[in-house]
Amino acid sequence: MIPRNAGFATRAIHHGYDPYAGSGGLTPPIHVSSTYSLPSAAEGGRRFAGDEPGFVYSRIGNPSTALLEARLASLEGAEAAVVTGSGMGAICSVLWTLLRPGDELLTDETLYGCTFAYFHHGLREFGIEVRHIDLRDPANLEANIRPNTRGVYFETIANPNMRVIDVAGVCDVARRHGIWTVVDNTYLTPYLLRPIELGADYVVHSATKYLSGHGDLLAGVVAGTQEGISRVRLQGVKDFTGSVLSAYDAHQVLRGLKTLSLRMDRHNASAMAVASYLSRHPAVARVFYPGLPGDPGFEVMSRQARGCGGVIALELVRGQPAALEFLDRLALVIRAVSLGDCESLVQHPATMTHSTYTPEERAQHGISDGLVRLSVGLEELEDILADLEQALCGLG
Ligand code: PLP
Repeated sequence: MIPRNAGFATRAIHHGYDPYAGSGGLTPPIHVSSTYSLPSAAEGGRRFAGDEPGFVYSRIGNPSTALLEARLASLEGAEAAVVTGSGMGAICSVLWTLLRPGDELLTDETLYGCTFAYFHHGLREFGIEVRHIDLRDPANLEANIRPNTRGVYFETIANPNMRVIDVAGVCDVARRHGIWTVVDNTYLTPYLLRPIELGADYVVHSATKYLSGHGDLLAGVVAGTQEGISRVRLQGVKDFTGSVLSAYDAHQVLRGLKTLSLRMDRHNASAMAVASYLSRHPAVARVFYPGLPGDPGFEVMSRQARGCGGVIALELVRGQPAALEFLDRLALVIRAVSLGDCESLVQHPATMTHSTYTPEERAQHGISDGLVRLSVGLEELEDILADLEQALCGLG
């Protein structure tokens, strides 16, 4: 039995599972059943109507995913959560639930590439207006809300250019105007920042990243109120996207969560050291990391988060050609998209994760062709720095 007021790391390891119950296994079993027996026809009907608890079919819920959902809700400070087959599954499931033709969604200038594509090639083609505004100043939201504006969507730190949003400031304006907020907290995790405690309605994650942390699965989560999550589960996930997480992958995310706080402390410390090293290197024109004093997001992040996470962006003095050469020279740091893994990863957003934007859109949305995204892993800091040093040598 864990204490009522158990801290983050304790809940990340124990919440929702009693090792003395059932078989007595220290770790929870993996429930692979796709469907569930119904004690009677009448009870089956009541379970379907939501009048009685109990599992019916794994697209709606299963004991393995339910345990992960309870644990993630506890960590996010939310009433409830629903897990999905990927981060994009989470984003699509919540937005298809909340938006209808004629509605407007306001969002920040910069978004992860596939979220941008979903908004522009998905939502817009179904009659939903999507408008980008500079959300770094919450006053811009106040000035831009129209009668058909239904909600606001943003990333706590924007992928890939590290813009920082004042979560409490934006959520406060949204709440006063009766519109909802969906916040992508992938870069920070609930260990570093909890948007719901700052007034957000829904939090989404690519659990593929830090939450699972080992680069061996795809997963997503939406957290929010009991009522809101029930809608997302029964419409967004069950009927609209079918984006379901397997019991095996739910088990792997539970395993990753046990070390989340330790991993994030190390990611924070190493990324901070790497960012300061890069900011002093003559081949580097600019480093984007809000843990650095002087970064435009420094003050807001010092106020709202426990750390800035493990992702850094940088531009080299000699632009895109040097950036691509830098990628090719790295030996320990692996050229790969994704982030939040134990391994340090590097990629070039303009030709990789953000090639979903046209070149004009990238210019308009603040993603330069020379930008490099580095996800600082858990290797020895000295080894990461040595690899960066040899790759940058002579590129200035
Ligand atoms: N949100 C952010 C900020 C991301 O970086 C990503 C993936 O890179 C996603 C959402 C999508 O997650 P997934 O790849 O798990 O679908």
